[in-house]
Amino acid sequence: MTDPSVVIVGGGPAGIAAAIQLQRYGLHPVLYEANELGGLLRNANLVENYPGFPGGITGRELVGLFRRQVEQFAVDVRNERVLNFDVQRQGFTLAVATTTHQADIVLLATGTNPIRLPDGMVPEDCINLIHCEVVALRELRDRRVAIIGAGDAAFDYALQLANKNDVVIYNRSARIRAMSPLISRVQMHPHINYELDHELISLQRVNEDELELTLTGPDGEVVGVFDRLICALGRSPNLDCIPESVVEDNPDLRGIENLYILGDLANNLYRQTSIAVGDGVRTAMRIWDRLELK
Ligand SMILES: Cc1cc2nc3c(=O)[nH]c(=O)nc-3n(C[C@H](O)[C@H](O)[C@H](O)COP(=O)(O)OP(=O)(O)OC[C@H]3O[C@@H](n4cnc5c(N)ncnc54)[C@H](O)[C@@H]3O)c2cc1C
Repeated sequence: MTDPSVVIVGGGPAGIAAAIQLQRYGLHPVLYEANELGGLLRNANLVENYPGFPGGITGRELVGLFRRQVEQFAVDVRNERVLNFDVQRQGFTLAVATTTHQADIVLLATGTNPIRLPDGMVPEDCINLIHCEVVALRELRDRRVAIIGAGDAAFDYALQLANKNDVVIYNRSARIRAMSPLISRVQMHPHINYELDHELISLQRVNEDELELTLTGPDGEVVGVFDRLICALGRSPNLDCIPESVVEDNPDLRGIENLYILGDLANNLYRQTSIAVGDGVRTAMRIWDRLELK
């Protein structure tokens, strides 16, 4: 039997781990990554729960090591977004901007999308001052940054930016969902203010390139002017490249032969690097086992 053609969509930790393991089996997958290898992990300040790095490692460094391993195993990485894919009786057709790609087996490791502010709330001229990740803001210096959210990402982003900027975290309730080490680091940081019970109600651009935020707080309305706003409002599965008809027929996408869903895309609240990596390796092993049986 000739080797099947295997395509992985998404080059975060899940897709990378699957690619390395498949390559070890000699299956030579093609890995499509729309942005940069490493995925969401590039945003992590300090990864303390990935075994092998006592004392922790920054997301950026860990991604650098993942990339080196991808290169060592000579994985065929294509820096293109998969725009769409079609499920046929025998295999799949994936569309990228320049061409289409036939595959017998597809691994979807597209991760998650950020939950954004409601459309009507964001004036057009504010869009480029609002972010959902910090990768693009690493060089920001001496600015005022507002972060809305109350989970790990909000606190992690605040810690990263507060070394060179002043940060305010606004939480619309009193409930914090971040882990306790992050909370204590935020509480001790001289350049982070944490405001509970503050809900953003409107925003507008002022003074050329600043944002004026209006929030409701315990003592009434509060107005603050910032250089940047980061929305850390949670994430939802990234199904952008999957036709609606496919999702309608298979809401959890698990009923399609030779289609594998892995990593954060599949793991609901259990979104962690080690889980995504384990998923990648397990998926590759399952594929190999099935081929061996045939
Ligand atoms: C601030 C922050 C801190 C974190 N800290 C930790 C931590 O300390 N420990 C930990 O274990 N985890 C941490 N995480 C979580 C970790 O980053 C994720 O669990 C992990 O990255 C998930 O890997 P993934 O491969 O499933 O998805 P992702 O990393 O989201 O990768 C998905 C990839 O798919 C690509 N993609 C999407 N659609 C397409 C398409 N159509 N075509 C081609 N490519 C596509 C994307 O560009 C992306 O690169 C943190 C996350 C954040 C945001």
